This record gives sequence, C-alpha cells and structure tokens, in this order.
Amino acid sequence: MNLLYKSTRNNENTVTASQAILKGLADDGGLFVPERIPKLDVSMDELKKMSYQETAYEVMKLFLTDFTEEELKHCIDSAYDSKFDTDVIAPLVKVGDTYHLELFHGATIAFKDMALSILPHLLTTAAKKNNVTDEIVILTATSGDTGKAALAGFADVPGTKIIVFYPKGGVSRVQELQMVTQKGENTAVVAIHGNFDNAQSGVKALFEDRELESELAEAGYRFSSANSINIGRLVPQVVYYVYAYAKLLENEEIVSGEEINVTVPTGNFGNILAAYYAKQMGVPFAKLICASNENKVLFDFFRTGVYDRNREFILTSSPSMDILISSNLERLIYTIAGQDSEKNRDLMAQLKETGSYEITPEMREKLGDFEGGYATEEETKETIRTTYEHTGYVMDTHTAVAAHVCAQYRKDSQDPAKCLIASTASPYKFIHSVMTAIDGKYDGADEFDLVDELSRISGMEVPNAIEEIRNADIRHRKECDPENMKDTVKEILGIRG
Ligand SMILES: *Cc1c(COP(=O)(O)O)cnc(C)c1O
Repeated sequence: MNLLYKSTRNNENTVTASQAILKGLADDGGLFVPERIPKLDVSMDELKKMSYQETAYEVMKLFLTDFTEEELKHCIDSAYDSKFDTDVIAPLVKVGDTYHLELFHGATIAFKDMALSILPHLLTTAAKKNNVTDEIVILTATSGDTGKAALAGFADVPGTKIIVFYPKGGVSRVQELQMVTQKGENTAVVAIHGNFDNAQSGVKALFEDRELESELAEAGYRFSSANSINIGRLVPQVVYYVYAYAKLLENEEIVSGEEINVTVPTGNFGNILAAYYAKQMGVPFAKLICASNENKVLFDFFRTGVYDRNREFILTSSPSMDILISSNLERLIYTIAGQDSEKNRDLMAQLKETGSYEITPEMREKLGDFEGGYATEEETKETIRTTYEHTGYVMDTHTAVAAHVCAQYRKDSQDPAKCLIASTASPYKFIHSVMTAIDGKYDGADEFDLVDELSRISGMEVPNAIEEIRNADIRHRKECDPENMKDTVKEILGIRG
C-alpha cells in the first residue's frame, strides 16, 4: 500500500515519500509525517537472523513505498558498506547491566553517520524519480558534527555538491581538521569570520534568496538541505532500534516479546523519535527515556507539559545536545494533538512569538511512553569515570548523559525492565572531556597525545577517522565574512554575475 506524507501544519496536502525527502521542509514550515506508522510485516524470529542491510530494507520499504526494491537496496548497500569499521554496522555491547547500541562506527565516528551515509542516495534517487535533472547543492552551517558527517556522506556522490560553513575558531581542533581535510571533488568547506549563529543565519538567507534561486536554476543547480528534520534522516534511524531488539533476542539476552526500556541522549529529538516510531511499528519497547544535559528543556517539558526555551544557553561537554529548540519534537506534538495540524500550528506559532507553549491535559495523557531525565556536568563525568573503573568500558560524554539518566530512572522507579542505551559517539571524538573525566591529570594535554593514551587504557583500537586526520593534507582553506557568503557560493559553483 502506498504511504503518503503530510505536513504537521496542514493536513490538506499529501506528498509521496520521495517528494518529502526532496523538499525536506513543507512549504508551510511544517515537518512531513507519514499518514500512519506502518507495522512490521516480518516476525522478530525472521528479523533476528537478518544482517543490518536486510533489516534496513524490511523497515525502510514500509515507509518509502514509492521506492522500488532495487532502488532501496541500492541506497542501503551504498550506505552501509566498508565506510563502517564493523560488518554488523551497529554493534551491541553489554556494559554492566545495560546494553549499549554503538551507533558510532561510521566515517565520522558519531551517530549522525547512520542517517547521513544513506541520505545522499535517497536524495539522488528521489530526484530521478521526480524528474529533477538539476544538480543538488547541499548547503549546511555546522557547529562541528553535522558538517563533517554530511561531507562524508555526500563526498563524490554523483549529481550532488556540498558546501559547509563553520565558525572559524568555534569548533574543536579535531572537528576542524576533520572538515578541512575532507576529500571529494564535489566538496567545499568555508570558515566564517563569525560565530555559529552568523553561519546559520547566512545559510538560511541563501535558502530564501529567490534571485539566487533563479541564477542557480539557470546554471542547472538547486539547493537542498541535509537537516535532521528530513524524513530521509528519520526513517533510517528507525532501523537500528528494530535491529537492536532482534539481536538481543538472537543473543538470548531477552526472551520473545519481553519489553525493554530505551534511553536516548537527546538534542533535536530525532533519535528518540525514531525509537518511538520503532515502538509503534511493533517493537516491544516499554519506556522511552529522554536524556538531556544541563540544557534540560525536554526534561522540564515531560515533567510539566510546558515547553520553554526562555532560559540561559549552557555550553556543556556534550555539545551536540546543547539545543534549546528541539525541532523534531513538533512531530510528537502533532501526534499527541490527535494529528490536529491546526492545534500544532498554534503551539508552534506561540513558540516562535513567546518562546514557550503549554500542551493540554489530554495531550499530556498521551505522553505515557516517555520519561525525562537529565545529567549535570558533574554527573556526566562521574558516570564516565565509574563505568571505566568498574567495567573498563570508556564511553563518550553524550552517551554518559544517557547512562546516568538510565541508572537514575532505574533507582527511582525500581522498574526491573532491561535497558538499551543509544551510544551516540566514540570516546575518541570528545577525547579531552572523556580523558579528564577519567583522570584530572589529562587536563590541558594535546588532543592527539590523548589518542594513544585512550587506546592504551581502553584497549579500543584508534578509529580510522582519527588516524586519517593525523597526517592528511589540508584541502580546504577558503574563509569569508558572513556578508560575503553569497558571492562565495557563486564562486564555488562557477556562477558569474
Ligand atoms: C546529534 C547528536 C545527539 C542528539 O541527537 P538528536 O537526534 O538531535 O536528539 C546526541 N549525541 C550525539 C553525539 C550527536 O551527534
């Protein structure tokens, strides 16, 4: 059956999956949602024997119904290949009494690779299906992580170009090196003389520039975004939750039908929303535990029913979760409003105007699947250190936020269900914070010296992503002022005028 998508802000118009992927955001500013969440049509007994790629096909075919089997399998096989450092793609590791689902074995050693390695293929396939012949130009502003994952995903994908802007001096040394050494003839990286907000507003202005749009069209280009609200990023994230449950069953860690809890370190609410979709597809998940760092907007939301971004923005050691507007939450709001696009639109308008909104008691009742929790900086460090001391396992700061919240929830609720933790980054990626959490003596040490030290104490091999940047050539040296971003884009694309 064909599954269509509609906007969270307007129930009237429907689009196909491929159109939703191509557009990213609906014209009315809403997010695309499937009309219903499909149910898995293969049993867990069948799924438990499947590879990651086979599982991906079984899940994604139900959401992306206008892709042919051949197209979808081609996208899956092009994404989940030797770019990952393990055949199982997303390994499960038992740590103490929890299971860590390691989502950091891709090209940039963080969880965004799970979706950004397949998005370029979904996007170019979607373009072909809709007779779009223009070359797709991905524009992204990054505070560090997304930019590199998008570059790695789009590098040398035919029919695409990617331009990434990052704030000069506003990203870590490893992050900057990861970006400026990026290979691929279709990649460009530009340092902005300004902060992340300048880069982001600049990109937004380019997307809204109609004159630029027609100049691009004349030259055979069109802009697209690799933003986390694209359903082409959300759907691939559902896969690993199905896969994880099936593998726990296969490894006899759980029995058939056993309900388990899932804890997800959350920023934009994309990863945990994928777990919610997996649950609705029929995976026996009980609680979905949303873990925040000190920017605990979501914790407060689940506790009070009020979403309020009017607060101090705190820089933490888990920067990918330093977010005050969790854009994917809109999909949950729409669902608990009974798919009422008008009600959702009102709440989103309030958020825009006043920075906050409150959901109704009826909507709150539908949040029973979720629990919220948060970890302070001190608790995050403590979790990294004590887990290392007790088990020898070293986790990154984002994952540690989830591990703390999971343990806290168990203690408070006495809920005996087993728990899966989404492990979103390699400890090598946030090495300075991780190593100083383990021992204060590492403070101030050179990041690259710490690499060998982490390898020594953890026994974890140094990932390719780190080895590569140690010796790689710098390929991107462009810099510009925020006012000149438009000219820079035109220059990169070879557009005159
Ligand atoms: C992006 C990111 C997150 C947050 O995921 P959301 O889908 O935005 O909630 C958590 N950890 C890491 C390492 C990330 O890069």
